[in-house]
Amino acid sequence: MEFLRPDSLAGALAEKAANPGAVPIAGGTDVMVELNFDHRRPDTLLDLGRVAELHEHGTDGGRIRIGAAVPYTRIIGELGAQLPGLAMAARTVGSPQIRNRGTVGGNLGAASPAGDSHPALLAADAEVEIASVRGTRIVAAKDFYAGVKRNVLEPDELITAVLLAPATGPQQFSKIGTRNAMVIAVAAFGLALHPEQRRVGTGVGSAAPTPRRAFEAEEFLAAELNWDSPKVLTDSVKRRFGDLVAAAASPIDDVRGSAAYRRHALSVMARRTLTWAWTEYCGGSAQCA
Ligand SMILES: Cc1cc2nc3c(=O)[nH]c(=O)nc-3n(C[C@H](O)[C@H](O)[C@H](O)COP(=O)(O)OP(=O)(O)OC[C@H]3O[C@@H](n4cnc5c(N)ncnc54)[C@H](O)[C@@H]3O)c2cc1C
Repeated sequence: MEFLRPDSLAGALAEKAANPGAVPIAGGTDVMVELNFDHRRPDTLLDLGRVAELHEHGTDGGRIRIGAAVPYTRIIGELGAQLPGLAMAARTVGSPQIRNRGTVGGNLGAASPAGDSHPALLAADAEVEIASVRGTRIVAAKDFYAGVKRNVLEPDELITAVLLAPATGPQQFSKIGTRNAMVIAVAAFGLALHPEQRRVGTGVGSAAPTPRRAFEAEEFLAAELNWDSPKVLTDSVKRRFGDLVAAAASPIDDVRGSAAYRRHALSVMARRTLTWAWTEYCGGSAQCA
């Protein structure tokens, strides 16, 4: 097996163009499992560990730009205040060792419907920056996932960053698994309130062939919320929101859970995250008590 170790982004893109079959490796927490279990035996690995540009985060036109190889631990510690939803999701990934190595770029590269960053990225309207020697393009997270464990990357392309606006309202993430830690999601849900735009963002994980948004639920809730003088949410609004989130999923029965259980879990997570987010938005106001 050939092991390519470029030390710049230009070098990495040139290697990917010359070796389109090369498998990128960032934290390696997915790739090494696949190699160890012999699920994949690529001729060439493209190590991104020395590409400094992928390990940085900063701001870009008011948005936060997270290099594809920034590990979860740094997202939690360095960006948690600005990106609370993504940080919550990151805290649920694997174990400290996995969070020290694993990256959002790798989660996107693997494009598993169960990847934990996806619901948070979808709810926050994240965009994915993709580059090749041909240039750079930006793809909205909602358009990035192409099927089960498939994404829209061309063979010569790399994910270089994700772009997100700092939160302007409450964000929440909830995940159901068979235990609390080191667990793949049976179902997951991300919620972001965007008060400046009077908009709601959602992300459904592990309950469809790809991570996806619950558009009808978003529109329903945005119209129901009393953004200017927040009031307590009625049970019927919470229940309808939960039902619409569950309806947006198309889950399967598998060893982790039945389709019916996943739908139920999603409706519960949607109601709970909405309650938490709205309570935060109200800021303890008497009308919301
Ligand atoms: C014990 C264990 C527990 C885990 N728990 C969780 C969990 O709770 N939640 C969860 O979501 N995941 C979990 N994972 C999976 C994994 O940790 C995550 O998917 C992680 O985000 C992968 O990041 P990475 O940098 O290690 O990716 P890698 O393994 O390096 O790469 C993953 C995929 O992305 C591609 N890739 C990586 N970087 C790029 C790039 N810049 N451009 C294009 N393609 C790229 C690779 O070629 C590969 O196909 C777990 C894994 C293990 C081993």
